[in-house]
Amino acid sequence: MKINQELCVGCGQCLPYCPMGAIERRKDTSQINWDECVECGICIRQVKCPVNAIYEPKETMEWPRSVRKVFSDPTSKHENTGVRGRGTEEVKSNDVTARFKRGFFGIALEFGRPGVGTRLGDVEVITKVLAEEGIAFEVANPLTFLMEDVRTGIIKAEVRNEKVLSGIVEFVIPQENLEQVCTKIYESAGKANCIFSWALISRFEPDGKLPVIERLKKIGIKPSQNMKVNVGLGRPLRED
Ligand code: SF4
Ligand code: SF4
Repeated sequence: MKINQELCVGCGQCLPYCPMGAIERRKDTSQINWDECVECGICIRQVKCPVNAIYEPKETMEWPRSVRKVFSDPTSKHENTGVRGRGTEEVKSNDVTARFKRGFFGIALEFGRPGVGTRLGDVEVITKVLAEEGIAFEVANPLTFLMEDVRTGIIKAEVRNEKVLSGIVEFVIPQENLEQVCTKIYESAGKANCIFSWALISRFEPDGKLPVIERLKKIGIKPSQNMKVNVGLGRPLRED
């Protein structure tokens, strides 16, 4: 986004809305830090600018800057997956997507957050390690489309410096690989130059037990147990 400096009266109403703190006061007007703006569109959707000074310039939709909007603006649709938001029917919603079957775990690494975001190149620190482990990244995921080669986990050079609100790396592992893969992620986390959260998605066993918890504790990882249940929303549950 940009602010038309001829129109802006510097009222400051738009400043608190920006989740990246990218709008700055300058003397009598406000300006958007072009490098920090992730093109989430909140300022143009939510702020009632008294003089309509905020606008979306055509460069916003030009490659490679266009990836910012795709990952940061929940109203935009990813052209490869056709999904809005972060462009993926998340592995976390396994009850409707059936991304993984019994005998497997889903893993989702969510890079960036409102307030900090992430450069797409920062994701690579972890995806390269995962690629060395032979991980097959989820095909229907927008971050996978940005890899130069899924066998290396390297992100395309032209998008590495693009900043987004958040992006999610997803994959599925056989249950027997749990300790090996989780240890690698744990060891590599400190090298990542951005914040990321890590979700391991497991199904309950038929007897109601969740053995993954004890397995994680044995390798020094103390998981926080959360549950995501898609109630209603008109989406049929998948069968095993
Ligand atoms: S709300 Fe509009 S006029 Fe006020 S500072 Fe922001 S861009 Fe300028
Ligand atoms: S598009 Fe989003 S990140 Fe950019 S200035 Fe507006 S609110 Fe901030």
